[in-house]
Amino acid sequence: MRGRAMVEKFKRILAKEEYCMGCRLCEVHCVVQHSKSKNILKVFKGEEPRPVSGICFEERGPTSFALQCRHCEDAPCIEACISGAMYRDPVTSKILNNRSKCVGCWMCIMVCPYGVIKPDHEEKKVASKCDLCIDAGFPACVEHCPNEALVLVDYMGKKVSKEGLTDGK
Ligand code: SF4
Ligand code: SF4
Repeated sequence: MRGRAMVEKFKRILAKEEYCMGCRLCEVHCVVQHSKSKNILKVFKGEEPRPVSGICFEERGPTSFALQCRHCEDAPCIEACISGAMYRDPVTSKILNNRSKCVGCWMCIMVCPYGVIKPDHEEKKVASKCDLCIDAGFPACVEHCPNEALVLVDYMGKKVSKEGLTDGK
């Protein structure tokens, strides 16, 4: 069990299917945020390698939602990882994948109960998943969702804004 300080750092994205319009802008901005140029035109006009989106988009009829890593308390992907690539960041409590250590065995993909890890074959075989935009400080999918169908929440389930303020929603 993690300590209280770690629990209090915990954040995750909630998907609200009732607000999702199926525009998939979350996927677009995830790819842009994780690209080298961070330029939407360059990324979709041939920049290589193009990152794999950390979002698993599901759609059936009028229902759609965008799912990402839950940053599980007891992350089975860490337990299953044979190379020590998957780990919990001690500062942010996020579950991250060290791409240089990953050997592409897909054990994490097999055990993830949410099915949110994708194989990335662009530069080498590597497991790819949501890192909550650790470099940007705030998830691009949440920031760019036009309908607030994706919401960042803290360990109490309170909404976290880009400024880091909770508004109790
Ligand atoms: S990748 Fe899957 S198993 Fe690992 S923390 Fe995220 S949701 Fe949990
Ligand atoms: S694919 Fe990479 S991250 Fe996943 S279990 Fe294998 S080595 Fe670990």
